[in-house]
Amino acid sequence: MKGTVFHGPHDVRVERVDDPALKTPTDALVRITRAGICGSDLHFYEGALPIVPGFVLGHEGVGVIEEVGAGVDRLKKGDRVVVSAVPACGRCYFCRRGQPSQCAETGSATFGYGANFAGKLGSLGGEQSEAVRVPMADYTCYRLPDAIDDDAAVFLADILPTGFFGALNGNIRPGDTVAIFGCGPVGLCAVMSAKLFGPAEVIAVDSIPYRLEAARKLGALAVDTEKAPQTILDRTQGRGADVTIEAVGNESALTAAIMAARGGGTVSVIGVFGAPSFNFPIGYAFARDLTFRIGLANINAHIPELARLMETGAIDPRPLISHVMPLGDAAKGYEIFSARKDNVLKVLLKP
Ligand SMILES: [Zn+2]
Ligand SMILES: [Zn+2]
Repeated sequence: MKGTVFHGPHDVRVERVDDPALKTPTDALVRITRAGICGSDLHFYEGALPIVPGFVLGHEGVGVIEEVGAGVDRLKKGDRVVVSAVPACGRCYFCRRGQPSQCAETGSATFGYGANFAGKLGSLGGEQSEAVRVPMADYTCYRLPDAIDDDAAVFLADILPTGFFGALNGNIRPGDTVAIFGCGPVGLCAVMSAKLFGPAEVIAVDSIPYRLEAARKLGALAVDTEKAPQTILDRTQGRGADVTIEAVGNESALTAAIMAARGGGTVSVIGVFGAPSFNFPIGYAFARDLTFRIGLANINAHIPELARLMETGAIDPRPLISHVMPLGDAAKGYEIFSARKDNVLKVLLKP
């Protein structure tokens, strides 16, 4: 089959790779019909994470079940599914408590990260390809209703549950002011998700005008990064935001999110950090009585509720799609996304 192989920074190529095959009875094979390029893929592409090349990229896939192992109960050939970026068993201590990203059986393995983040499952294939082997398929795949098309469903694999997780961790109450740092696709998913909790205002912060425009269209007050600290104070009688959400994954955005929260407020972090550590203004956070939340989203746990919201039209992430291109053009998709060219937001690939 064809897959998007990572060769090194700024070098991805669609080429022939081995066809995936079932390995254990709880596996399924999924023929991919749509895949996303994620902001976290850019960490590899831009060389921010030192990583062993030679693996197929992609952890946001939608497709059709091609084959199931004997231990798969809830899926059959021909089912249309979204594949969670982070596989999980659905049965262990963590999965039963709604924390599948801590699944005891997988160790936070993620599709399309090569051997680098293999967890307990060994290296998983990538989904910017024609097919993928899905372990623990019963819980890792979610069968899609007809009302959710492939383009919309890609968002369920990772970034919509991630944005939702950020909003949930923010503990947003009706009437709150929520400030979201970063208006890339994940930040925009956080804007949509935050609005589900009834805030008085969502302030979206970025430095790229077309991204701010996208946030504005979703109903946020969009502000340039430079002006954000003052605007947030102005909109909250000088208190700061009740909830801030960091959706970038760098120190300056994180610091801005901490500084913009009001005393007793909550800082919720969903950005994926390339650096292993950072300077945390601990004395400031202590004095301000801040609640700090961070984590890999519990994707599988949130797919059913988000799918339901999409099914009824209460949430529609499709306006975030800026490019749909053939799988063969993946290198071009990466280049456009990385360079923020062409008003790029979400890039989807069509095998
Ligand atoms: Zn992703
Ligand atoms: Zn589990």
